[in-house]
This record gives sequence, C-alpha cells and structure tokens, in this order.
Amino acid sequence: MVTENKNRVLTFAVFLMVIIALFFCFGRVAYGAEKQMVTSGSNVRFRSDPSLDGNIIINLPAGTLLTETGRSGEWASVNYNGQSGYVNTQFIKEAPAGGSEGTTAAAPDTVPAAAFSATGGHIVCIDPGHQGKGDNTKEPNGPGSPVMKARVAGGTHGTTSGLKEYELTLAVGQLLKNELISRGYTVYMTRESHDVNISNMERAQYASRVGAEVSVRLHANGASNSGTNGALALAPSASNPYVANLAAPSQNLSSKVLSGYCAATGFANKGVQANDTMTGINWCTMPVTIIEMGFMTNPGDDANMANPAFQAKMAKGIADGIDAYFAK
Ligand SMILES: [Zn+2]
Repeated sequence: MVTENKNRVLTFAVFLMVIIALFFCFGRVAYGAEKQMVTSGSNVRFRSDPSLDGNIIINLPAGTLLTETGRSGEWASVNYNGQSGYVNTQFIKEAPAGGSEGTTAAAPDTVPAAAFSATGGHIVCIDPGHQGKGDNTKEPNGPGSPVMKARVAGGTHGTTSGLKEYELTLAVGQLLKNELISRGYTVYMTRESHDVNISNMERAQYASRVGAEVSVRLHANGASNSGTNGALALAPSASNPYVANLAAPSQNLSSKVLSGYCAATGFANKGVQANDTMTGINWCTMPVTIIEMGFMTNPGDDANMANPAFQAKMAKGIADGIDAYFAK
C-alpha cells in the first residue's frame, strides 16, 4: 500500500509538472504574440477593419497604449480598452516598459513620419517643408530618373528673426491642419515633429498612400538680395517627364492657394512658376503645390512670418485657396 501510494504520488507529481510545463510554453507563445504598442502620431484612427475604408471607431491621441495581437501588411490588429480594431502600423511603435492598455503614456518626444486627423471631408496632405536636420544622401529625382538629389535639404532661415524654415513650415502647417479640420477636411501631415528624417520622395509617396486628393507643401524662400519679397507657388509644367498629367490641376491648385494666401496676408503675389526639378513634385500622384510663403531673407516678410498672429492669417489664406480649389 505504502509503495503503491508513493507511486501514485509520483505519477501525479509528474503529471502536474507536465501540465505546468505546457502552461508555461503556451503562455509564453501567447505572450510573445502580444505586444504593448503606443500611438506615435496625433489622432491615430482606430478602425473597425484593416482598410482605409474601415469605420473609424475613435481617433486616438498620441501616446495611447495599445495591445497589438497581430499584423498583416501595414495593418496591426490591436486591443484598445478591451475593444479590438485596427491601426496603421505607421502610427504605432513599441511602448516603453510599464503602463497599461488604454492609458496615455508620456507624450513621445519624437513624432514619427506621419500623423493624421480625420473629419471625413476632402483629403489634404500637408507637407511642412524640411526637418530639423537635412539629409544629403541621394534619392532619384523622379520615378526611374538617373538624376540623384539630396533626400531633404536643410532649408533657409530668417535673417532678422533667426527662425528656421523647418520651424516656420511646421508652425504654419499645424495651424493649417487645425483650420482645415475645422472646415471639415481630412488632413494628413507628413511630419509633426522636427526630429524626423523623411525624404521628399517619401513625402510624396506618403501623400499617395493616405489617398490625399491634393498635396500642399509649405516652404519659405531665401534670396541674396534682402529686398526681394513676396510669395510664389511652384507646380509641374505640361512637359514634366513624370507628372505632366498633373500639370493643369497642380497649376490651378497653386494659383488658388497663392491667391488666397496673398489676399489674407497682403504679401506680393509673384505668381505660379513651373518647376520640373523638385523630387517631391515628380513623385506625386495627385495635384500638388509648393507654396513659397515669403522671403525669410527680407526683413519685412521675415518679421511677419515669425509672428504667431500673422501665421494664423497665413494658414487661413492657404485654407481659403484650398476651399476655392475644391469649389471649382
Ligand atoms: Zn524650403
């Protein structure tokens, strides 16, 4: 009896160990498939389906913690507050340790390549020109082009204000984003931080990927003559080797945006100029404009553009132009 009991106890102990071992293995597999992620852009769409056509359940602020349960292409299946849905993998990154799903982590100090806000109206991609640091490594000037150009230039700066072009473009870009959202547009931003490295080609590709109907690229000018002032816009010409089909609508968009902008700011209108050398235009698949909002080398333009109250006028003027374009 004693021996038999011992054997039973032993058998039971082995059985228990096997169960525990199995539990550990499967537990680990399940744990390994789930990842704590955090939203890295503002207004990240949490969707019902892994598609841009999926219903938006809620727009998540930057820094929202999510549990990723799987991934297919550019879509991650995630849980948010116990609800399952999908987010584009571009707008999430691995969460730092700690924190639980549904809470908001400390605001990330670097916002990644892209962020967006949705209201359901016409879709606009805003590209605040440049970034904190230029990148001189090269990329093709257009699809299939043998001409290689710097991924993204450093940009100019205000000779009076000291403001950097990349600071000005993002300041106006954020105001424009809010202005357009308030007018019912769906807005995508190529960047919402200076601490990014997104080439001009990538900015154009981003606009395509998000289904933008127009791309509005914000820049400011510099000239050796400090007396040169005023705003102008750049659009591809009808003989552009890559995007000739976009010449007419891009020129129309440029003309509307520039008129709205100059009316709102009182800046001199230097007109729409054809330009076929810009990588960020040549890779576009939708009407595009580069608005050179003024000359940072001109003390008058510079002082105005560095003024936040004036920047609000700039953004309103550009939004007026976009309204006029879509009202056609
Ligand atoms: Zn620029």
